[in-house]
Amino acid sequence: MWQFTETLGEGAYGEVVLAKNINTNEFAAVKVIDINRLKGNDVVIRKEIDLHKLFRHENIIRFYGYKQQYSNYYLFLEYAAGGELFDKIEPDVGMPEYLAQHYFKQVVAGMAYLHSLGVAHRDLKPENLLVANNNILKICDFGLATLFRSQTTKEERKLTTYCGTAPYSSPEVWAKTPYRGEPVDVWSCGIILTAMLTGELPWDQPSYQNPEYKRWLDRDYYHNPWKKIDNMILNLLRRILIHDPAQRARVIDIQSHKWMSKVYSQDGTESDHQLLKRMAVKYEEPCWSLTQPNQSTTSTVISSTSMDDPMVNCISQPIKLDDLILITEPRSLAEMGDQDPSEHLVHRMTRVVLAISFDETIYLLNRLFVHTGYTPKRTAGNQITVFTQDKRHTELIFKVNVFKIPDAKIMADFRLSKGDGIEFKRKFVEIRERLVQLATAWSNGGGGSACFNHSDTSSTLTNGNNSVNQLQEAMDT
Ligand code: AMP
Repeated sequence: MWQFTETLGEGAYGEVVLAKNINTNEFAAVKVIDINRLKGNDVVIRKEIDLHKLFRHENIIRFYGYKQQYSNYYLFLEYAAGGELFDKIEPDVGMPEYLAQHYFKQVVAGMAYLHSLGVAHRDLKPENLLVANNNILKICDFGLATLFRSQTTKEERKLTTYCGTAPYSSPEVWAKTPYRGEPVDVWSCGIILTAMLTGELPWDQPSYQNPEYKRWLDRDYYHNPWKKIDNMILNLLRRILIHDPAQRARVIDIQSHKWMSKVYSQDGTESDHQLLKRMAVKYEEPCWSLTQPNQSTTSTVISSTSMDDPMVNCISQPIKLDDLILITEPRSLAEMGDQDPSEHLVHRMTRVVLAISFDETIYLLNRLFVHTGYTPKRTAGNQITVFTQDKRHTELIFKVNVFKIPDAKIMADFRLSKGDGIEFKRKFVEIRERLVQLATAWSNGGGGSACFNHSDTSSTLTNGNNSVNQLQEAMDT
């Protein structure tokens, strides 16, 4: 029996929820798709399921099975407890080169695997790259994926659905000309690598009208983000971000580029070690199987996989469809008796831990958002939804969920609902900074002994006996 717990993220047609099997204590990420929101376009989800269930690769999120119940589809997926890749990108800074190389190699490996099956992802971006145990990167969200090569005849077709996410889309998709599948994913990988190394996206769209893109075509690399990038990697990017898809690097060219085999010092610096240690997740991957609705209850989704597949080896008994009972009314992990729920939850950088009360946290956040010019709305008892725009004037919506955690602390968990992930992260950092100032002003204003510590993963605001009134005073100073 599967119990829904915390929400992990939001997709185009619904939420992704962390589910716990209350008999076996296994975890799965369940993508909930509201059939009403599909507006009769069920074929989109059937296609996602049909493609995703084929994939067996370390760098692709595993599809375990699905169930249709009432007006929802429930897609059971491998749970990636390390969160999204974009969460590891510091705005305007990026991440250390060796780490970018570590992740980039895995994106390319996952993409090469998809292409070998004749599948193009068409929406590769850091939000669709998750991190699991031991820093293993996993490609997810196959909502826009499609077959560009027949598995039987090996014939390739050109694609004509112009989809994706603007800053990651290739020029041929923007130009709305029939395009080949592989080069558009290769292009997106180039933008992902740029984002990982610099914490910024090079342009809104790769069109001749765009001044930043024009500069790139003119080989003017003396501006950001290019001037932050080492020459060897810039050389690789110049091979990837080529306007003409026929001239663009192929996967094999990327894999054989000299930067891909550059060895970074094993001992690294102390902070590098700390970073990797912090990012390693304690969570153990679950191993079980689920039955598909249309299959007999004895055959499992993964029963046709080869015996060298680790998933097959760890199955004790196939789970019958009847066993796939969902309790969709969420219960938090804490309510279910988990001593430390944060151990199982995605390790996000967009979290703040506060040592003030729940009500004070909600109040403070609301005031802070209004002061910053955002529009906050209380969308649930413990949730504020915030509406704003990014620097490209595109809608940016994020949610803040406030939870009680052990040691009488409160966690405010910021999660993107709509818009660009890096911009969201930039705004989060600004809000966190403002909280630091607030805490300082608050402590200086008398009352409590406020101090603020923040590590890369969380920030802690502690106070003495401050009240909501004192918070208000601090806001107004
Ligand atoms: P999607 O609808 O696939 O784009 O997923 C929306 C968001 O949910 C992602 O950006 C992740 O933050 C989260 N998410 C999706 N799948 C998983 C998973 N397998 N494990 C953990 N988080 C996930």
